Amino acid sequence: MKDNDLITRLIRPEIRALKAYHVPGSAGLIKLDAMENPYSWPAALKQEWLEVLRDVPINRYPDPAAQVLRTQLKRSLAVPAGMDVLLGNGSDELIQLILMGVARPGAVVLAPEPTFVMYKMIASFVGMRFVGVPLASDFGLDLAAMRAAIKQHQPAAVFLAYPNNPTGNLFDAAAIEIILRESPGLVVVDEAYHAFAQQSFMDCLGRFDNLLVMRTLSKQGLAGLRLGILAGDPSWLVEFDKLRLPYNINSLTQASAAFALKHKNVLDDQAARLRVERARLLQELAALPGVQVWPSAANFILFRTGKPADVVFAALRQQGVLIKNLSGTGGVLVNCLRVTVGTPDENTTFLAALRRVLST
Ligand code: PMP
Repeated sequence: MKDNDLITRLIRPEIRALKAYHVPGSAGLIKLDAMENPYSWPAALKQEWLEVLRDVPINRYPDPAAQVLRTQLKRSLAVPAGMDVLLGNGSDELIQLILMGVARPGAVVLAPEPTFVMYKMIASFVGMRFVGVPLASDFGLDLAAMRAAIKQHQPAAVFLAYPNNPTGNLFDAAAIEIILRESPGLVVVDEAYHAFAQQSFMDCLGRFDNLLVMRTLSKQGLAGLRLGILAGDPSWLVEFDKLRLPYNINSLTQASAAFALKHKNVLDDQAARLRVERARLLQELAALPGVQVWPSAANFILFRTGKPADVVFAALRQQGVLIKNLSGTGGVLVNCLRVTVGTPDENTTFLAALRRVLST
């Protein structure tokens, strides 16, 4: 029997105040809620992939440094000479490693808001203070407010999702450079959606001592593998590597990612198709009466309709389409919904369902 007093005494109040990251059930639904790539691989390549996996020695621990994969990633991601990569079990784990490394008592994590929720959640996990700086009304960075907050709070780490989730836009690159110059701590540019934005700070790694660039294979089509990549100066990565649990990248992920990167053209083609579909979705959404839609450089689109988001979300779900309802986040996201770009058929089904909802 659980002793509630003991729980209250032992578990930190900020942890008790949190809600675990919730993933809604999606069985039988068209899944447009989590920025996954909807495409799978050609049958012949799948067969080849299976041949590779067949010989993975799973009785042995994985290569703790994932040497082969790291070398391949550095080439594939065009990591500048002299820089290195650290791998995480998803980029979520890398955020955690960074923050564990800088979590002195009273230290601050700063990010514009709204943004990816894990920056704030992980700040809580490691006992740091999170400062959110509201985005401007067009969801761009409010540079004056960012500069003032950086000056005031002296953050140990600033996170900038580029493009931002859930708003979908790329922040102004010149503003990010100013933030890099004025920040006393690390600035992590999170390029999770790079395949759809094709803009990057990777080339700037040699120019700013406090810059780290984060990527993931999740949005590009390998979400199930859980592989995040942190690129930066080796002297930073050596420190975070000490906090990484041994063998965090399992053997099947190492072999699978290495295989997939050898055939990166498949992933690149899929991203290109999704960029084309994104343009169509944006256009068709914008043409619907009463729908407000924001431009996107990612594989999802933020929009608002004339009806309450809860009603639209539930009616779409009823029709078999799962998107993300952001209304509960509050603030500027009240009545906002986010749809991931799917296959042409999935997008057509979503649009038809939305038209039905809006016409009743
Ligand atoms: N960064 C951003 C901006 C994201 O939106 C996400 C996923 N929603 C992640 C990081 C985490 O990605 P993963 O852990 O799958 O690599």
